[in-house]
Amino acid sequence: MVKTDLRRLTKKRVLIEDVFKKNLKKVEIIGWASKTRGLGKIRFLLLRDISGMIQVTAVRSKVKGDIFEMMDKISSESVVFVKGEIKTLKQAPGGKEVIPDEIVEIAHADELPIDVSDHSKTELPKRLDYRFLDLHRKKIQSIFKIQSEIAHSFREYFYNKNFMEVQLPSIISSSSEGGTELFPVNYFEKKAYLAQSPQLYKQMLACAVENVFTITPVWRAEKHNTIRHLNESRQMDIEMAFAGQMEVMKELELAVQYIVKNVLEKCKVELDLLKIKLKVPKAKYMSYDETVKLLKVKYGEDLTPENEKKLDEKFPDTIVFVHSWPASLKPFYIMPKQGKADAKLSEGFDAIYKGMEISSGGQRIHLPDLLIERLKNKKLNPKNFKSYIDSFRFGAPPHSGWSIGLERLTQLITNQTNIREAVLFPRDRTRLTP
Ligand code: ATP
Ligand code: MG
Repeated sequence: MVKTDLRRLTKKRVLIEDVFKKNLKKVEIIGWASKTRGLGKIRFLLLRDISGMIQVTAVRSKVKGDIFEMMDKISSESVVFVKGEIKTLKQAPGGKEVIPDEIVEIAHADELPIDVSDHSKTELPKRLDYRFLDLHRKKIQSIFKIQSEIAHSFREYFYNKNFMEVQLPSIISSSSEGGTELFPVNYFEKKAYLAQSPQLYKQMLACAVENVFTITPVWRAEKHNTIRHLNESRQMDIEMAFAGQMEVMKELELAVQYIVKNVLEKCKVELDLLKIKLKVPKAKYMSYDETVKLLKVKYGEDLTPENEKKLDEKFPDTIVFVHSWPASLKPFYIMPKQGKADAKLSEGFDAIYKGMEISSGGQRIHLPDLLIERLKNKKLNPKNFKSYIDSFRFGAPPHSGWSIGLERLTQLITNQTNIREAVLFPRDRTRLTP
C-alpha cells in the first residue's frame, strides 16, 4: 500500500468501541474481517479491531459500485477499511451496523491454517505453530491483556513502595544456584550460560540500595515436559535489605492481592470472555511442620503437585504460605534458623495459590563463613562460588526476597490447564519457533 493511501485510510479512523459509545453517524473503521456470510441479496461482514466488533451490512440494490461483489471476495482475517453510515438495528451484535459507502482491502489473508473462531477446534500445538494468527482470537488476546495487567500491577506496587527497578545480566559465567541445568552459550573464548535466576545479582543490589525489583527472563534447561514448566520464562522478583522471611511473605501477599484487585477492576471484559470467576485472595501462613501434618506427607519430603492441589481444596481463594522449610529441601543460600549451619529448619518458604506453587523465597545467608559451611553441607565446592561469597565481605546486611513466575501466575489467574497458553511464544523441550 502506498503511503498517501495509508494516511487517507487511517486519518479519520475511529475505534469500533467508540462507534457504540459515542453515538457516531458516519464512520471510518479498520479491522479484521472475522466472518462473512451471504444470503441472496444481502451480505454481512463482521469487522473486529482491538476494541470491539461491528456488523457491516450491504443490500445489493442499495450499495454503491462493486461493494456488494467485494464483500463476497473478502476472506476471513483480511484487513479491511470500511467507510459508512451507522444504523441502529436490534438484531445486529451490539444493536448497530454499518452500511458501507466504501470498502478497501488493506491486507489480504490466505486460506487459514487454523480455526480462529471463538471455540477453535484446532489443538494447542498446531495453534502454537501459528501463534501470530491464534492471537487474532479475542480469547487469546484476553489472556495477554490480563498478563499485561499482572506485570504492570507488580511493577506499580513496588514502584509505589519506593523499590528500585533494576536490570540484571542474562548471560552468566557459572551456575548461580547449583542444581538447575543451564543452557551453555559461546562467549568469545569462554563458556557462559543463560541465567536461570536473577537472584545472586538482586542480592548484591539489595546489599547496596536496599529494596529492588525486576521482571526478567530466565532459562532452565531441564528436559521436563509438564503443564507448569517452560524452558524460558519470566520472573517477577524482589529483594529487600533488613527483612526476614515473614516480612517478604507479607509483601508477596499484598502484591498478589493488589495484582488480582487490578485485574478484577481493569480486565472485566476479558474475565467475562474467559468465564473466569476471580476473588482477591486471602492469606494463610503455615509452617512446613504444620503442612506435612495436615496433608499427611512424610516429613522431609517436598510437596507434590497433588499436595499443592489439596491445599487449594482446603483453603480456596487463598495464598497458602508454607514457611520454615527443612534446610535440606531448600538451596544452600537460604538462611538456616538462628543462623546455625546445622539447624534442621530454614527461613525459606513457598507460596501456593490455586493449587500450584507461584513463588519461592526466603532469607538469604549474608555471612561468608556460614555460606561456606552450607555449601559444604550440600556437597558443593565453595571454590566454585568464590566471587558470590566474596560479594558479602564488604558490608552486606541481612536480606530476603522471592520470585513469582509471570507465566505461572497468568496461567492460574486465567484458569488455563497448560502454562503454554500463558506465554506468547513458548520455548519448551521441542519448540523453538515461532
Ligand atoms: P516448581 O517446584 O514448580 O518446579 P521451582 O521451585 O523449581 O518450581 P523456583 O526456582 O522456586 O521454581 O522459581 C520461582 C517461581 O518461578 C516458581 O514458583 C514458579 O512460579 C516459576 N517457575 C519456576 N520454574 C519454572 C518453569 N520451568 N517454567 C515456568 N515457571 C517457572
Ligand atoms: Mg520453588
